[in-house]
Amino acid sequence: QIDIRGLHKRFGALEVLKGVDLTVARGEVVVVMGPSGSGKTTLIRCMNLLEEPDAGTVAICGCSVECGGAVRRRERVRKVRTIRHRTAMVFQQFNLFPHMTALGNVIEGPLSVRRMHKDAAVALGRELLDRVGLTDKAAEYPSRLSGGQKQRVAIARALAMEPEVVLFDEPTSALDPELHAEVLEVMRELAHDGMTMVVVTHEVEFAREVADRVVFMDGGVVLESGRPQDFLNHPVHPRAKAFLRLVA
Ligand code: ATP
Repeated sequence: QIDIRGLHKRFGALEVLKGVDLTVARGEVVVVMGPSGSGKTTLIRCMNLLEEPDAGTVAICGCSVECGGAVRRRERVRKVRTIRHRTAMVFQQFNLFPHMTALGNVIEGPLSVRRMHKDAAVALGRELLDRVGLTDKAAEYPSRLSGGQKQRVAIARALAMEPEVVLFDEPTSALDPELHAEVLEVMRELAHDGMTMVVVTHEVEFAREVADRVVFMDGGVVLESGRPQDFLNHPVHPRAKAFLRLVA
């Protein structure tokens, strides 16, 4: 479902991705770990082309984009739109609209992008808020929600676009530790429902229980990749060993 080949990305003089390959099958949950600055966020932002890679191929849900070459602008815009429709992203900082209620945040995409009828969007929004355990918070504004509740609204908002893939960028790292569990539980259920997920996180227990595969990045490349029980218990690369000693 996702096939990333030879991805390169630089910011000025800094080469952040140095040829990353990653495939993710339909229904697979891949956790991406690695030290700060290793390029994890840049990688998932390149997956849905929120960042423009300098070279490589991004293929998601049957739509393939060659990056860096001379591609006709109109064709590129069409492909980027297709990829954005099929993927949803959950950010570290929630990125909710502060002037909209929880329900308003969830139905914004269905109304403006999917052009759903208001009644249908509201019904979908309520169903999704139910699913993330926020039935009674539909009318609250983000400023009156806890961090964990905000992140659950953000997950409901992502699901409202009916994506085929959800990309999570450190979804718990801005939260107090006691709020991690409620967000991870929603993600765990989503995984059990068969959603294809790429999750940048240092949540070792989540990786152990939920991931099908853990990918370890350092210095802009994938250094190691394996089943959670193998990678987490017996990392091979010295840098993976050192990293796990710090987070586990
Ligand atoms: P962290 O765990 O700290 O979030 P990360 O592995 O996700 O780190 P990235 O956020 O992908 O790392 O950043 C990799 C490098 O690229 C960092 O050195 C960062 O400062 C740099 N970088 C990221 N985005 C930009 C940008 N828009 N402009 C310039 N440099 C950037």
